Amino acid sequence: MYNTTMTCIFCGIADGSIKSQLIYEDEDVVAFKDLNPQAPTHLLIIPRQHIARLDEADEQHALLLGKLLLTAKKLAKQFNLKDFRLVTNNGKGAGQSVDHLHFHLMAGRRFNWPAG
Ligand code: 5GP
Ligand code: ZN
Repeated sequence: MYNTTMTCIFCGIADGSIKSQLIYEDEDVVAFKDLNPQAPTHLLIIPRQHIARLDEADEQHALLLGKLLLTAKKLAKQFNLKDFRLVTNNGKGAGQSVDHLHFHLMAGRRFNWPAG
């Protein structure tokens, strides 16, 4: 089983053994503040289940992936975010540094497009 604090920081945050500023949790999804925020609001939304990145997800994760997106929407509402950016980096070349699927929910500044 890969789901241990020893091997994955975000599994540790999800099971409470690594401290974070928790924003939301339910049986499937956890959201917390990014340690090194890149915007005035910068939250990370993760599945409790260890999935390394989006390209490791498949049909069996369809409901879970939907929950992650709906959690982003709910948090955007809760935090009164009118405009926000939701991003996942898939692989090192795309900027992924933690190998546990996560969506960045960012707001409170202007974002460029295309993303850098
Ligand atoms: P990635 O680069 O993989 O897309 O995003 C990983 C994010 O996780 C980064 O924005 C980084 O600041 C954040 N991060 C890394 N380690 C920790 C941690 O221990 N706690 C929290 N709250 N965020 C972390
Ligand atoms: Zn993990």
